[in-house]
Amino acid sequence: MFENLKKNKKFDLLMELKKKGISDPNVLNTIETTDRSLFVDNSLKEKSNLNIALPIDCGQTISQPLVVALMTQYLELNKSMRVLEIGTGSGYQTYILSKLSRFIYTIERHYVLTKKAEELFKKLRASNIFCKYGDGGLGWYDQAPFDRIIVTASAPDIPSNLLDQLNENGILIIPIGDEHNDQILKKVTKKGNDYLLEDILNVRFVPMLEGKVK
Ligand code: SAH
Repeated sequence: MFENLKKNKKFDLLMELKKKGISDPNVLNTIETTDRSLFVDNSLKEKSNLNIALPIDCGQTISQPLVVALMTQYLELNKSMRVLEIGTGSGYQTYILSKLSRFIYTIERHYVLTKKAEELFKKLRASNIFCKYGDGGLGWYDQAPFDRIIVTASAPDIPSNLLDQLNENGILIIPIGDEHNDQILKKVTKKGNDYLLEDILNVRFVPMLEGKVK
């Protein structure tokens, strides 16, 4: 009974994503085959197929599936790419990225979230994900440059370290704005010494903060 209900809700979610502009079959397929309930606490599992953000540990949130799908679609990933993600959180977005690219380097400033996600990735045998506990605003210098960078917390400006760590023709997706107002999801494409900027849509993310938390 519960399994059937779960399948129906997943079907509804996929229909909603398609209606709202998700057309990349690889993205849709990855959302369909990834069990989001693995990334939330027991009490929230029943809500995991709804198109809503949900609370996770440390006062953070797992993003809405539509936003995860949109950001992933805008990254235009392929299996040869190395991707940097800032804000591991629950690890849901990270895991989706890992299915569509070669290596994922993900940074989280909360120790508790980093460890929890790392354990989950091990259980899921996602061996192409590398986790770091630290301040993502600095990027991951030793592993740079990256073909793609995704930031899942909102920053006041585009961090210059991240721009510096982007490959030629690389794409960076980042929400820009402050905690209390509308933020705009931006796409930045690196072309020589220039950066092309595109606004995608208004979003609501937790803030990108400096330093790390024990
Ligand atoms: N993609 C995640 C989103 C989690 S919310 C998910 O779907 O679960 C954003 C995360 O960014 C939070 O866990 C927050 O702690 C983290 N974060 C905020 N500022 C950061 C920074 N400077 N470096 C690394 N992580 C950061």
